[in-house]
Amino acid sequence: MDTLLSINNLKTSFFTHVGEVQAVRGVSLYLKRGEALGIVGESGSGKSITMMSMMRLLEENGKILDGQIIFEGSDLTKLSEKQMQKIRGNDIGMIFQDPMTSLNPVYTIGNQLIEPLMKHKNMSKKDAFDTAVKMLQLVGIPSAEKRMKQYPHEFSGGMRQRAMIAMAIVCNPKLIIADEPTTALDVTIQAQILELMKDLKDKLNTSIILITHDLGVVADMCSRINVMYGGMIVESGTTRDIFYNPKHPYTWGLLKSVPNPKNIAKERLNPIDGQPPDLLKPPVGCPFTDRCDYAMKICMNSKPPMFEINNEHNAACWLNHGLAPKINADAQGGNA
Ligand code: SF4
Repeated sequence: MDTLLSINNLKTSFFTHVGEVQAVRGVSLYLKRGEALGIVGESGSGKSITMMSMMRLLEENGKILDGQIIFEGSDLTKLSEKQMQKIRGNDIGMIFQDPMTSLNPVYTIGNQLIEPLMKHKNMSKKDAFDTAVKMLQLVGIPSAEKRMKQYPHEFSGGMRQRAMIAMAIVCNPKLIIADEPTTALDVTIQAQILELMKDLKDKLNTSIILITHDLGVVADMCSRINVMYGGMIVESGTTRDIFYNPKHPYTWGLLKSVPNPKNIAKERLNPIDGQPPDLLKPPVGCPFTDRCDYAMKICMNSKPPMFEINNEHNAACWLNHGLAPKINADAQGGNA
């Protein structure tokens, strides 16, 4: 598989009246064509801002300060707004947590599907209509032709999410970014939507970046996972590496906070105590120091480098240094 996207040392800040919030602090990642990558972390870890930087959809006070975002050979940080408009919706589709943020309440679902096809693909209205109907059928919306004439408020929550997925894929994008796509849905619909996305990935060979706070959501769909904390990637590896051989205490905490279906009645969930770091004044050393049970003196003063565990698996934690104390394996991982 060749590389579709590579982000190198991305730094994004927001300039507020209280100072500079360093939301993304040197993120590097890559995505292969046809691959699904999970980006996991708590709210405020920088995962959504990394993607908004990539789409060049930051709020006015947000700025990319450094780094490259190479998509199909072009550096997106260097493109004009007009060039970016061609990429958004056409080459890269987005699915958000709340469909109402991307569905326009005053246009029918049909209009919202037809318009990008006419704009980006130069289709006639008739061809765009037929393609839009096919898309609604593909995402499992019954009576698609009738539904084309309806407005978003006439759809249920799960159906709106499906309509938004149809909008994201209607131009056959090379990449779909799904930001907490199922958080607002109940578990049954959640499972159906995830299954649908997996199916579309396989059928259309679309690459997917799935952003979530929930490791359980990425387990089934993604082949690799990047764990973010404090505006940085703190661990990356294959899904197997992350679930069966995690090497960062933050990942251990995330794994322990995933409910285990085998013990759901007996087991209490273990949230990670404490608060994420203040990104107005990010820590000099490891951003997880204040919440980490294994913090050492070096963690406070020196940012851990990415230690290579194997050629796909890396973790930014001093415990992976050859001279660090060995940690009991029971402390690591949760439900793996
Ligand atoms: Fe904990 Fe230190 Fe590892 Fe950070 S570098 S996660 S503080 S042990």
